Amino acid sequence: MHRTGLEPVTTRFEAGYSIQLSYQCLFERVDINRAFVFLQCLNFSKKSLSIHISLLLARMKKKTGAMKQERCEGIVLRSIDFKERQKIVTVFTREKGLLSVIIKGISYKKSHLVALSSLFCEGEFIFRRTRGDIGVFLDGSIIEESLFLREDYTYLQTAGSLAKAVLHSQMPQKPAPLLFELLKAYIKQIKNIDPHLLLASYYLKLLQHEGLFNWNSTCSICQKSPANFLENGDNLCSEHASMNARSFSKEEAELVGKLSSLRKFGELAEVKASFDFYKKIENYFKESTS
Ligand SMILES: [Zn+2]
Repeated sequence: MHRTGLEPVTTRFEAGYSIQLSYQCLFERVDINRAFVFLQCLNFSKKSLSIHISLLLARMKKKTGAMKQERCEGIVLRSIDFKERQKIVTVFTREKGLLSVIIKGISYKKSHLVALSSLFCEGEFIFRRTRGDIGVFLDGSIIEESLFLREDYTYLQTAGSLAKAVLHSQMPQKPAPLLFELLKAYIKQIKNIDPHLLLASYYLKLLQHEGLFNWNSTCSICQKSPANFLENGDNLCSEHASMNARSFSKEEAELVGKLSSLRKFGELAEVKASFDFYKKIENYFKESTS
């Protein structure tokens, strides 16, 4: 028996097992020509060898098809140190929702990898899916680093809360292109709008996007009394709200209505809201998405 470098080689192989082993070798990136030599070494007849090779190629094609390169535009929302010079980043992509990829070989000589593994960097990510939940990053390019967020701790904190809201409410790999555009637009406005107001507005938009909230100024049960309570996405009056409903003053209820209907950031910049109002919206958001 010739040594081919493919281990282990025994004569007890049955057809199925030899295919499986060769396939495994291919999966580990052993050259296909070496796999051919390997099968020849097992003294298969010409006909038998041809069947094995066809099966092998079919399986390889299926596998490489499933692991083909993919390309997405996305924003980094989470970045965790892994091994040396490696990070696992969670990217919110326009096309495929939340994706996690491992980026290897990060060093200051490869500045684009440093940027693409940094929080809030928007870029194009080319990756290959694996059998697990975490894909392998292959290449990418920077679209926008959003470096202005590093100018002020409040900016970073606000961006962090926007990111958390997405991570908290979205299932992995569930496409949400409108939410992606919304996040992108809100990150750009961090410098211009009061952070609590911006976040309150974002939480309400996100709840609307998920179908968990739709503002109506009158109670959704009696259709008559003004709605000053929010409960499980419903707008309710004092008579129809339960003990668990979140109450709002008349002014706050109007503000909720205004924030949910605003379409332009210019209008948002003119709105005033208290910290208590922001906390109520934040808590309502957390309750609704938990
Ligand atoms: Zn009512």
